[in-house]
Amino acid sequence: MGDFDDRNESEFASNKDKEKWDAHKKGSGPGMPPPIFSFKNGKFKFSFWYFIAAVMILLFANAFLTSSGESQEISFSTFKSMIESGSITEVLMGESVYIGTGPHTGNAIQETTTLLSTGKSSYKTVPVDDPNFVTLMDQYGVTYSAYKQSNPLLIQLLMSWVIPLVLFMVIWRFVSKRMGSGGAGGIINFGKNKSQIVAEGDTGVLFDHVAGADESKEELVEIMDFLKTPEKYKAIGGKVPKGVLLVGPPGTGKTMLAKAVAGEAKVPFFRLSGSDFVEMFVGVGASRVRDLFKQAREKAPCIIFIDELDAIGKSRLNVAAGNDEREQTLNQLLVEMDGFSSTAGVIILAATNRPGILDPALLRPGRFDRQVLVDRPDLAGRKAILDIHARDVKFGPDANLEAIAQATPGFVGADLANVINEAALLAVRAGRKAVHQEDLLEAIEKSVAGLKKKNKLINPRERKIVAYHETGHALTAALTEGSDPVQKVTIVPRGMGALGYTLQTPTEDRFLMSREELLGKIDVLLGGRAAEELIFNEVSTGAANDISRATDIARSMITEYGMSEKFKNMALTGGKDPFLGNDGYQQQTRNYSESTGEYIDDEISKVINTRYEKVLKLLGAKLELLRKISEHLLDKETIDAKEFKELVVV
Ligand code: ADP
Repeated sequence: MGDFDDRNESEFASNKDKEKWDAHKKGSGPGMPPPIFSFKNGKFKFSFWYFIAAVMILLFANAFLTSSGESQEISFSTFKSMIESGSITEVLMGESVYIGTGPHTGNAIQETTTLLSTGKSSYKTVPVDDPNFVTLMDQYGVTYSAYKQSNPLLIQLLMSWVIPLVLFMVIWRFVSKRMGSGGAGGIINFGKNKSQIVAEGDTGVLFDHVAGADESKEELVEIMDFLKTPEKYKAIGGKVPKGVLLVGPPGTGKTMLAKAVAGEAKVPFFRLSGSDFVEMFVGVGASRVRDLFKQAREKAPCIIFIDELDAIGKSRLNVAAGNDEREQTLNQLLVEMDGFSSTAGVIILAATNRPGILDPALLRPGRFDRQVLVDRPDLAGRKAILDIHARDVKFGPDANLEAIAQATPGFVGADLANVINEAALLAVRAGRKAVHQEDLLEAIEKSVAGLKKKNKLINPRERKIVAYHETGHALTAALTEGSDPVQKVTIVPRGMGALGYTLQTPTEDRFLMSREELLGKIDVLLGGRAAEELIFNEVSTGAANDISRATDIARSMITEYGMSEKFKNMALTGGKDPFLGNDGYQQQTRNYSESTGEYIDDEISKVINTRYEKVLKLLGAKLELLRKISEHLLDKETIDAKEFKELVVV
């Protein structure tokens, strides 16, 4: 038989028993006293149990030191009769105890102390409130003196410092455990940076891993290049943006792009979410920001990535009651961003899907002055993303990713990655060795059903209506003199309920608009509905936003710009404050009578009707072109400026 401590595995009734045994051998686990203090990496590590042990020792010492030698405890009446009989000739009167000693030869206090320390007999009693006691002592010639029961120094220390400290520690631990569920270590660790530092080039993501976001990538290549070869930029005196804001719906690959910049440049990547900063205690977020930037500066060149920037960067203007913690955090972020030069090599990337609610201060020059749109992918983008995620998956001969890309308008990268993964799981469940088309289609259905609110799977008829509607806008713009050129037409659904959109960007900054140009704008807005009516002979709700915008322009022409027949050169509303901007919160004042109100309504409807008729005629004459572009759009989902120009010219 060997050492009994070395039991063999099978001798334990269960795994639990073995765990207990192992713990016992290590000297820990339930049933074993916790370590009083420990050493870690050669350093003394504070232990809570140390305090408990110290208190126990001190209490024990107290009990030992205050045990009053061999004093014999007697009743108060006996004490009195002993005085009367002369057995007690000296009394020390404490608050809760009287100590009496017999005939003596020296100082009473000295003697009592000697008695206590030598263990010689004396008498002690618990006093009774007896007003005649002093008279009695006087009568028998007893010397008496007041006795202050003083605790030894150690005990005093214990009472005044150690016990309150221990109590404080216990409460602190309790509270921090309660509050600490949000972060490792609780409040003891507040202010510490929770960011995870990824070692150089450790993100492992490259631009090649991100598909379908070519335009966004192009914008970020420059940042990557700066981090890689800053000398090139410094030599020429160029400044690279300090902050880049990635804007787009969730799951479109914003985090991936940020990681790719770090991965390509092989620099450390600090990743934090905006919500990590916002804590219960005012000032914690701000100290976290400081800490983060301090670390980043030490590791420069590097990238800081702040996800969900809107969690801290919410505009301060529209919040009725301020949130001190968020405001302080935001201010600290602004201060830190201003505090380092753009050549320091720290670049801050941030992501948000709600750029509209960000505080304008964040978007000023020197902060997040560059915005990169990371939009939902179009057909080609979706195909490329599917290809990337399909690399490690085995497919059957019938799998057709092109068809899957076509069937998933509105899906973002994360959804597509999910479709491939879900299809693989479905194939395994069905006992197949490879993923077939039916698995992929079922995975789409599952994803759509699960994410009904997020993704709209548009039926073919609606898709066609959207395509004609958008082409209507774009073609009207192309046929309207002085209209901004069409930049992009797409039927990829976007968040906020838009099923497609036509983007026009002005060729130059415009501060003035002529009457004709305003009417042209109305035409373009009405073009969508006009196209629908021409092709499908009915109109849909899709034009709601266009109509309200067209009406607004017409109303402004009449009430603000004095462009109506009757009220030529006359403003009918109070002006807006030019410094507040048009944030939708300003109320305009109404400076007209009821009858004028009626006139305005009539006039608006007249303007809209005549323009609509005009657009119907304009597009009616180009029906073939409208059809051609719409079909092309249905096929490609997105048409860019160059392609659109070519289509219109031919
Ligand atoms: P976001 O930060 O925009 O919410 P993420 O970057 O976190 O999105 O993307 C989540 C996941 O979706 C990624 O890990 C990746 O698997 C997938 N994904 C998203 N966009 C793309 C893309 N453009 N190319 C390849 N994969 C993508």
